[in-house]
Amino acid sequence: FPVDKIRNFCIIAHIDHGKSTLADRLLEMTGAIAKTEKNKQVLDKLQVERERGITVKAQTASLFYSHDGQEYLLNLIDTPGHVDFSYEVSRSLSACQGVLLIIDANQGIQAQTVANFYLAFEAQLAIIPVINKIDLKNANPERVESQIEKVFDIPREECIRISAKLGTNVEAVLQAVVERIPHPGGSVDDPFKALVFDSNFDHYRGVVANIAVIGGRVKKGDKIVSAHLSKTYEVNELGLLRPEEHATQKLFAGQVGYIIAGMKDVKEAQIGDTLYCLERPVQALPGFKPAKAMVFAGMYPMDQSEHPALRSAIERLTLNDSSVTVQRDSSLALGAGWRLGFLGLLHMEVFNQRLEQEYNASVIVTSPTVPYKAILSSAKLIKSRRGVQKSVVYIDEQRVMLKYLFPLNEIVVDFYDLLKSMSSGYASFDYENADYQAADLIKMDILLNGRPVEELTTIVHRERAYSMGKAMCERLKESIPRQMFEIAIQAAIGSKVIARETVKAFRKNVLAKCYGGDITRKMKLLKRQAEGKKKMRRIGNIDVPKDAFISVLKRK
Ligand code: GDP
Ligand code: MG
Repeated sequence: FPVDKIRNFCIIAHIDHGKSTLADRLLEMTGAIAKTEKNKQVLDKLQVERERGITVKAQTASLFYSHDGQEYLLNLIDTPGHVDFSYEVSRSLSACQGVLLIIDANQGIQAQTVANFYLAFEAQLAIIPVINKIDLKNANPERVESQIEKVFDIPREECIRISAKLGTNVEAVLQAVVERIPHPGGSVDDPFKALVFDSNFDHYRGVVANIAVIGGRVKKGDKIVSAHLSKTYEVNELGLLRPEEHATQKLFAGQVGYIIAGMKDVKEAQIGDTLYCLERPVQALPGFKPAKAMVFAGMYPMDQSEHPALRSAIERLTLNDSSVTVQRDSSLALGAGWRLGFLGLLHMEVFNQRLEQEYNASVIVTSPTVPYKAILSSAKLIKSRRGVQKSVVYIDEQRVMLKYLFPLNEIVVDFYDLLKSMSSGYASFDYENADYQAADLIKMDILLNGRPVEELTTIVHRERAYSMGKAMCERLKESIPRQMFEIAIQAAIGSKVIARETVKAFRKNVLAKCYGGDITRKMKLLKRQAEGKKKMRRIGNIDVPKDAFISVLKRK
């Protein structure tokens, strides 16, 4: 394929505006997948994506499209919409020259629409606004076009109105991709140079890297070097993603595809790394800004014997999600483990779920915290306000964009859920880091029968300590099952107890219900009890369900 017949683009949007559905139609129309009723978000391959109905992982698909008698190669990357995964979006953009910015014809511009627009705008990509869901009864594309003009300064004539669900006018989107997005440039005669923009660990084949070829060509058997470690590899396999791997003989400048080169260690395939040919060294690409972790939590194996297995699972999954930071950590109660940093709470939950589903790992996650800087001086005396308004921009008569400065711990856990329910789903929310600020904070411990549970120690604002302590005790009471003895749950600041709940003792013989001699029923009950136990964590002599560590932090 000549470079000028190649287009590389991303689909970006606020969550649920129809990115994955549009990707389905584009795949169907270009023959990458058969047309059937069953194609629903086919690029959302992970179990966690299917269960939650959201995209968490960018996916690449190469499409063949003919237009005006010419054959084109279109490389499409579907991206996640939720704020926690914007790092995934910015990495994907580095392999593209343009984006389809999808906006729901009913909801109009939302927080993530704005955030994603600026990611594409700063990367100087061609932006094609696509108004989706025009089939909806309340669709108001005129209003959305006015918003686009006002907020993004894009003329309304450039907007394409479609229904991704019904396939209406989707052909126009493909035409716009060919006509409005520049080709990737570069020449097959240049030295080989490729950007690693994603990678995966495969049990049998080792590292599978997704690359965008910036210049030159590469084929099976070539000796290539990774700039990061200066290690040399031989190319075993390469090809296109359609979206399934489709092996080819060569990859050329402008193409996006995968490459397998005998990298066995996850540390060898850094995302953002540059690959080049051993004989023709090149200047490495700038790579990516490291992601900035916002939420931290401890992760521990259920049993210390599972420590090596969990370590390798975490290493492999972080290869696939380089925005997670990992540090070794240990705890008196839970043994050796790690302290992981995430971009948000959903990100943390998804990571945990993927560990369990894709790597069969069983983990205990401690309650999430946000980073603080402790400065021991009178500056802590400064009274901090908890939310400071910064700016107000009216998008149109019905919609307003508010900017506030908030302490991160106030928004990280459930602010988003709360905002959604308060506004009946109308408000949307995005955030970025605004650096550290002084505040009046104190450390609060949670005690179980007098023994502090260090995983639940939190830093709270002084004014909030009583209500937080009370709420945490109440929630712990709900999630700790009654046991053979009474359990006192207390919240304390230093030696001062500020809240208490009690879990009453109880005697339960699970077999008591089994009158008669039905042995299979007895076995079933015993098995269920054993399974229940597995999800428990013993602290002192108390069994605590492992999800208690997260649920305790969610406010009602
Ligand atoms: P994403 O989060 O941006 O990837 O959004 P999805 O593609 O997963 O779509 C979110 C929801 O909107 C799904 O229930 C889709 O069926 C629905 N949807 C997507 N496109 C359309 C459309 O054109 N019309 C209607 N009525 N629904 C749509
Ligand atoms: Mg999606």
